Amino acid sequence: MTQPALDLVIAALERIREKSDRAPRASRTALARLQAGDCVTVSVITTADLGEGLSFPERQLHTARNKAHLLAAVRERVSACAKCAHLACSRTQTVFGVGNPDADLMFIGEAPGADEDRQGEPFVGRAGQLLTRILKAMNFAREDVYIANILKCRPDMPAGSFGNRPPTPTEMQTCRPYLVEQIDIIQPSVLVALGAVAVEGLLGTRATMRELRGRWHTYNSIPLMITYHPAYLLRNQAPSEKRKVWEDMLQVMERLERPISERQRNYFL
Ligand code: SF4
Repeated sequence: MTQPALDLVIAALERIREKSDRAPRASRTALARLQAGDCVTVSVITTADLGEGLSFPERQLHTARNKAHLLAAVRERVSACAKCAHLACSRTQTVFGVGNPDADLMFIGEAPGADEDRQGEPFVGRAGQLLTRILKAMNFAREDVYIANILKCRPDMPAGSFGNRPPTPTEMQTCRPYLVEQIDIIQPSVLVALGAVAVEGLLGTRATMRELRGRWHTYNSIPLMITYHPAYLLRNQAPSEKRKVWEDMLQVMERLERPISERQRNYFL
C-alpha cells in the first residue's frame, strides 16, 4: 500500500474515534490484510467513515449502498477468475452470491450445482427452493438475507455424466478468500453453514454433522450455526431430521432477537 493511502486510512480512523463514542472496528482478517498492504481493505475501512452526519435510516441505506459497491468489485474479480483452470473452462458462469449486502443473516453452502451454474445464482434448484421455504417459515424473504457458496464455480463432472460432485479441499481452499471478503464486507450478525462440506471449507474442520450441528460455533467472532444442507432433507424426508433443522433455525431467530410465534415454535418443515 502506498503511504498516501495509508495516511488516508489512519486519518479516517482518527476522525471516527474523535466523533464517535465507539472505537473504529475492523475484523482480524481486514487488519491482517491492511498490514500486508491489501488495497481492498482500505476501501472497506474508509467507507465506515462516509456515513457521518446522517440520520440512522440514512446511514443504514448509505452502509448498504457502500457494501453493495464493495461486493460488486469482488464479484467482478470472481467473474474473471481462472485460479482453478479446470473449473474456469467447464463453468457456464461464476455464481457469486445473492441477497441483501447489509444482511444480518448469511447462509453458506458448498458449491453451485447444474441449475445454479445455468442461472448464475446460488440455491435455485430443488434444494434452493427448500431453503427459500425455510426462510419463509422464519419470516424472511430471500432478499432479506445473503446466500453464498464456498466455491464460486460448479465442480466439473466427467463428460456424459449427470449430477453434481462435492468440491475438493484444494478447490475450496483456492476459492475461500472470496467468501472471506464477502463476509468481511457484509459483517452479518449470524452465519449459517449448510452441511459438513461448507463447514470444512469455512473452518477447515472435518467432522460429522452429528458432532457439528445444533450448537453455536464462531467464525471470526461471528456466531455460526451449523445445520444440514437442504439437499440432505430432500434425500431424507424423516420428520425427525426436518425438525432438527427447524430447531437450529429457531436458535438462529432467537440469536437475532426475532419474534417467534407459538405456531413457529411447533412448526415442522
Ligand atoms: S472456484 Fe473460485 S478460485 Fe476457482 S476458478 Fe472459480 S472463482 Fe476462481
